[in-house]
Amino acid sequence: MPRASVHTLGCRLNQAEGALLTDAFRSEGYVMVPESEPTDLIVINSCSVTRGAEAKCRRLVRYLLKRSPGAHVVITGCYAQLDAEALASIDGVDLVVGTEDKHNIPSLIESLEKRPTAEILRRPMSRGPFTIPETGSFRETRANLKIQDGCDVFCSFCVIPYTRGRARSRDLADCLREAESLAALGHREIVVTGVNIGTYENSGVDFTGLLSRLTEIDSIDRIRISSVEPMTINSRVVDLIAGNEKICPYLHLCLQSGDDQVLSSMKRPYTAAEYVSLFRRLERAIPGIGVGTDVIVGFPGETDEAFERTYAILEELPFYHFHVFSYSEHGSTRSARIEPKIQPEQVKARSEKVRRLGALKKKGFHDRQIGRTLPVLFETKDETGSWVGHAPNYSRVSVDGAGNLANEIRPVLITDSLVEVALGELAGD
Ligand code: SF4
Repeated sequence: MPRASVHTLGCRLNQAEGALLTDAFRSEGYVMVPESEPTDLIVINSCSVTRGAEAKCRRLVRYLLKRSPGAHVVITGCYAQLDAEALASIDGVDLVVGTEDKHNIPSLIESLEKRPTAEILRRPMSRGPFTIPETGSFRETRANLKIQDGCDVFCSFCVIPYTRGRARSRDLADCLREAESLAALGHREIVVTGVNIGTYENSGVDFTGLLSRLTEIDSIDRIRISSVEPMTINSRVVDLIAGNEKICPYLHLCLQSGDDQVLSSMKRPYTAAEYVSLFRRLERAIPGIGVGTDVIVGFPGETDEAFERTYAILEELPFYHFHVFSYSEHGSTRSARIEPKIQPEQVKARSEKVRRLGALKKKGFHDRQIGRTLPVLFETKDETGSWVGHAPNYSRVSVDGAGNLANEIRPVLITDSLVEVALGELAGD
């Protein structure tokens, strides 16, 4: 049987799709091999969030072809959708497939013959509900469930609406079918993912409705919401999280900036005050909730005062952690035309300042877990041999435990904290 390897770059949604692709190739009879081994078919699921991500994809093609010079090379993902021609011009690439046909790749490949010139398949992206071919094998402990794709917001710095198309939701029955099969495979936690998942709508069921349907699946212990846009979190979502133990009390609520002028240049449809009031509402409704966020520093026009306003909000709110992005120009976005640009050394200084604060926030959040007993879903062992997993509020927890705790949910008494992890001991079951 031919060997194949799937390499995914970028976000959780791309990772979810990469896992589905791997399953699909396996069910087509391919022998899936890790990156380190020679292969007959290389599939790269690319990312285009920054120019850096695109360069990484081009380097990866050359690196993998060195190990498997005769391999058939297929590239898909956001970079393939945005600039298929650039990828098709790389020596050794045979096929470039746009977003619309990503899930069809296994059936598109008739032969693994090398082509003299690369073929490009990039159909217009559909607007309607979608389904995903059934595959199903046990993946990483916390399984991603793709429920939505695309976005209609068009933030000025973001390429996603151009690479993944307009917002569209997965067929409700198809979501529930995959959730049940993931649970049947032994997954205890499902992470609902997409691009702008809060806009989910299908068969008259919205995001809150879908979440609540997922909680009705007996064999699923935990439902985790991945990154969400603040403008899509309404009181029904808040009440559902507050009232249903299966939904993890954690949200990754993208802020991007704490300055209204910058938010307006970013075309983000909320103000800093609205974000803060939503955060405070969440805190009141769900005590101890974990909240992460994304922040862009160095956005064009971000004055020192604007940056300090962002910093002040990050300092004021009890976040769990930040993902800090240094603004990077992407010619395909509207923000590329916004002036003035911020000097690289200033962007670097702002990014370092926010990262330092982020470490303090994470340590502070872990400190607040000390003395609590949390149900932890264990995933792997770390380099010290301790078992590591996540509590429902996303606290990362480490214990010295005997035996195999993989994919087990066990009560842990938190006894101490570090920046990256809370330390604990297994509490009596
Ligand atoms: S809401 Fe998110 S995915 Fe949509 S355009 Fe803005 S940043 Fe991109």
